[in-house]
Amino acid sequence: MLDLDKRSITYLPGVGPKKADILQKEAGISSYEDLLFYFPYKYIDRSRFYKVAEISGNMPYIQLKGQILYFDTLGEGRSKRLVGKFSDGTGTIDLVWFKGLNYVTDKYRPNTEYIVFGKPTEFGHTYNIPHPDIDSMEQADQVANGLTPFYNTSEKMKKSFLNSRAIQNLQYTLLSWLNWELPETLSPDVLKRIHMMSMTEAMRNIHFPESAAKLRDAQLRLKFDELFFIQLNILRTASVRKLKLKGIIFPTVGHYFNTFYKEYLPFELTNAQKRVVREIRIDMGSGRHMNRLLQGDVGSGKTLVGLLSMLLAIDNHCQACMMAPTEILATQHYATIMGFLKDMDVKVALLTGSTKKKERDKILPAIASGEIQIVIGTHALIEETVVFSSLGLAIIDEQHRFGVEQRSRLWMKNAIVPHVLVMTATPIPRTLAMTLYGDLDVSVIDELPPGRKPIQTLHRYDNKKAQLYEFLRKEIQKGRQVYVVYPLIEGNEKLDYKDLEAGFETFKEVFPEYKVCMVHGRMKAADKDTEMQKFISGEAQILMATTVIEVGVNVPNASVMVIESAERFGLSQLHQLRGRVGRGAEQSYCILVSSYKLSNDTRKRLEIMVNSTNGFEIAEADLRLRGHGDLEGTRQSGEGIDLKIADLAADGQILQYARDIAQGVLDEDPELLSEQHRILSERLKTLFTRKINWGMIS
Ligand code: ADP
Ligand code: MG
Repeated sequence: MLDLDKRSITYLPGVGPKKADILQKEAGISSYEDLLFYFPYKYIDRSRFYKVAEISGNMPYIQLKGQILYFDTLGEGRSKRLVGKFSDGTGTIDLVWFKGLNYVTDKYRPNTEYIVFGKPTEFGHTYNIPHPDIDSMEQADQVANGLTPFYNTSEKMKKSFLNSRAIQNLQYTLLSWLNWELPETLSPDVLKRIHMMSMTEAMRNIHFPESAAKLRDAQLRLKFDELFFIQLNILRTASVRKLKLKGIIFPTVGHYFNTFYKEYLPFELTNAQKRVVREIRIDMGSGRHMNRLLQGDVGSGKTLVGLLSMLLAIDNHCQACMMAPTEILATQHYATIMGFLKDMDVKVALLTGSTKKKERDKILPAIASGEIQIVIGTHALIEETVVFSSLGLAIIDEQHRFGVEQRSRLWMKNAIVPHVLVMTATPIPRTLAMTLYGDLDVSVIDELPPGRKPIQTLHRYDNKKAQLYEFLRKEIQKGRQVYVVYPLIEGNEKLDYKDLEAGFETFKEVFPEYKVCMVHGRMKAADKDTEMQKFISGEAQILMATTVIEVGVNVPNASVMVIESAERFGLSQLHQLRGRVGRGAEQSYCILVSSYKLSNDTRKRLEIMVNSTNGFEIAEADLRLRGHGDLEGTRQSGEGIDLKIADLAADGQILQYARDIAQGVLDEDPELLSEQHRILSERLKTLFTRKINWGMIS
């Protein structure tokens, strides 16, 4: 084996310790393998030569053939630059450098034939080409035969002469050292089934495409490779888990479930709720360990499904818990569930970070003895002091706020492994769900309880505030309440809090006759609760907040959601926020306030919000517009997946195919023990051992 992943990039000719350091920090390239898998982000067709006389308007990258007549240094200090007057007989154009001036004059000679490649930039009435790539005619064969790759490079990389061209040269050095042959990553049976290029051919063509067709095939093979191993990893983990983990069997639908369902359920379940409860019941009765994701749009009634599942657990002499990401939410769940169960004899406790010591000292032993049947709480539930007597079901609400590690901590300490139900209101597009949670079963509540009026969504510019205030006043006069939400973006907190506080002052001035309250993440939990309570009780008409109210809060009388700087939110987040209203019988509104100057993409995003109330549609659109890396949740939970070539938004079909092939392999050889699959298990080891394998326990 060549162990390309263990060979440090430092030792590749042309790199050395200094550049290695920069490659590592800026591009994550530390081994030979990392370099090979650093793929171009675009290719430019260099099969055609342009003439200087042809240059006009807004041209893409072009190439010219000709000579530099002379060099000239112009300007002083920061505007100092080197100009090379370039001619091809049809006209002249300036080649311009702001950096590396000496390097350029040392390297290139006047009156010598070169190929120049770059993007013409209009400058007054003429054009110049800043920082062009220049090749001698001897190099031309290597570079100018068609598609030229472009590699992402940062400013720091460029400053250390690691521009796109330099990266390509390193690829050339490495591939030559390898004699243009690479170890295959797929087993013969898989290769035979998929009919794709070999790894060698794919790697050659991704960095040095022979033709557009070959490049496409290379991209397909490498995307397949990437997605195949992710799927193989997830599915193998899942099948091992299924073999090894026995689920507690809940055979009985008993007293608690039946009494509640028949006597105290205040409304009929929707068909979707019924279906999901059935799915959960079958799962927990099967002897298999349940690991289920429950997706349902905001307001679809997930809490109730969670409650019914917990009643099933206690019918079978087990305890159940529900973990929420914030104190406010946990408290609200507790209140909701206590409301539902008020006439039944079920012992429920609330445990959060601000539960008083005296209270805690009572609750903890009662959880340990099994006397408390249902525990609702926050992260406090995963502290070591919390020991259950027999935890049979763990429900995690709004799982995006919890990392896989936290989830697994919840039951690692229990002697038995409880069934797990993860509830989320952020609909995860199918492709992403398959990649992130490929081993979870998924249930979907795709129906809202009857009698809800669709929320009307409007987009308004922030220079028309007076009209907005007038509208809000009318709604408040009708007895409604209003949310006003401000963005809180990592790295910009200071300014964001300022905006919120300025907004708070303005609203107090504009609405002196009403009570305005404010919550944000910097407040103490107790203060937050007090302010929140003012709004929940109806004492305050306007609640101003950062995104802390994003998930789960339920105030049916609040019918207007104003989102300030809406352009700075992701679509899924906007959808979540919008879901805070439309819970009562009144017509509800969501008003997206943005600045007048918007990019096309942003305008499109806000348009989607105005036109659609379907969470899945919106999540798909978000994935398309922003790419998966930014998708709400993937980053927060630290589960972001770093894909090098595949694109979850565009490559859904390849993903499905890769998953099917991976499943096929595992059906034959669940633990990849056969000789021919050794290549696959070795590859999995290389790819995934650096990360802790939490998949095993989540
Ligand atoms: P989410 O899925 O966002 O967590 P909730 O569980 O908070 O939704 O439910 C939203 C509201 O709908 C709650 O007030 C709940 O009591 C109510 N609800 C839930 N199921 C039904 C139903 N089948 N019919 C009528 N109202 C329901
Ligand atoms: Mg909820």
